[in-house]
Amino acid sequence: MRPCIVCNKVGFTSVLLGESLADASDFRYAIEPSAKFFYELATCKFCGHNSIQTNNPCSLSTRKHDFIKYGEPTEHYPKISNILGGLNLDFKDVSIHTFSYKDVQLAKFLASDLNISDINLNDHAGCSDDWLPLVSSGGIRQTPLPFARFLNEIDKSKKPHQLILFTRFFDHVASRDLLKKFLGLSSPSRHLVFDLNDYDRLYELGTVEFIWNERRNLFRRSHLESILQKNNLRYLMFGYESQEVSPTLTGVISERLTSASDSDLTNIIELPALKMIEKLNALRLRWQDTLAADHKLAIIGASHKGVSLAQFVLANEVQYSLHDDKQALREKTPPVLPPLGFHSVSGFDFSEYTHIAITTTLVIAAKIITKLRASGYTGEILDFDCKRLD
Ligand SMILES: [Zn+2]
Repeated sequence: MRPCIVCNKVGFTSVLLGESLADASDFRYAIEPSAKFFYELATCKFCGHNSIQTNNPCSLSTRKHDFIKYGEPTEHYPKISNILGGLNLDFKDVSIHTFSYKDVQLAKFLASDLNISDINLNDHAGCSDDWLPLVSSGGIRQTPLPFARFLNEIDKSKKPHQLILFTRFFDHVASRDLLKKFLGLSSPSRHLVFDLNDYDRLYELGTVEFIWNERRNLFRRSHLESILQKNNLRYLMFGYESQEVSPTLTGVISERLTSASDSDLTNIIELPALKMIEKLNALRLRWQDTLAADHKLAIIGASHKGVSLAQFVLANEVQYSLHDDKQALREKTPPVLPPLGFHSVSGFDFSEYTHIAITTTLVIAAKIITKLRASGYTGEILDFDCKRLD
């Protein structure tokens, strides 16, 4: 087991997610074999940090293939721009650098809003397998190549200041060393923008839909703050709600921030542990009680949430199928093998099914439910958390 990324101690309470699971985004052509690993949800006995422990050696678990892409929220962009505006930089002297394709939209927004013309849009994060450990002939672990390329791009900037976007990094970083390297990018001339799921608020919403095997850290705000403070970083962080996506925390790390971390130091309080393992166990029981042996379940939405439901929430004997209309997933084999197959949503006859689980966003789910009911479907429609959606 790797030590806790927050407190560096080893000692966990854990629950098995699966002995042999493919990555949640590992949709592939049938001819390709998929790598499978051991995964468990673990809570640190010392600081309460929740993480996904695995023997998968990649130091950053991004998506598995290039054709897998997820949308990102955008409503908070003006607020980020506002914080950056407060750094009092001459934005003619700034270059923007994206770490992942997920940062491109934000980079374009900031370039336009702050009038930055030197903009470098690259997907250094790439795919998980790019982050497998590199060991030299002398047995020394080397800097992962994508990080070396990212650093090289930033070093080559001719501008006095660099704006570095690495949103969605903290959820996926699996190595303490890599985390330190990223935080080490911060300097008086380099300013970082990040975001991550707001697990405190998600937990309050009563869901565990955010647990999936390509995540590594379910950071609470206080845990992330303690990491930033231990590294002497000045930052501003804010949380926001979105209609489209999960509650998110966003922040800027910059030594030029005036209302900085030191004023917040006193605000760190001991919070009650989030009992995520108990919540996951309760959810497994809820599904078990809901589905009788002769029931059939259709899972609509084959992104990480739908796949996770099949991978480690449902009991092995459940008769289910998986459904998605995404063009990129056509003709592919999903990371789980549904006994009733992998199909499209549109045009599919659900009349034989007693239950449907919709694991898309609520906005999309509402449209799907309307169509299902209009077509005469009378079974139960549930979400990931086994709650009725209508
Ligand atoms: Zn810990």
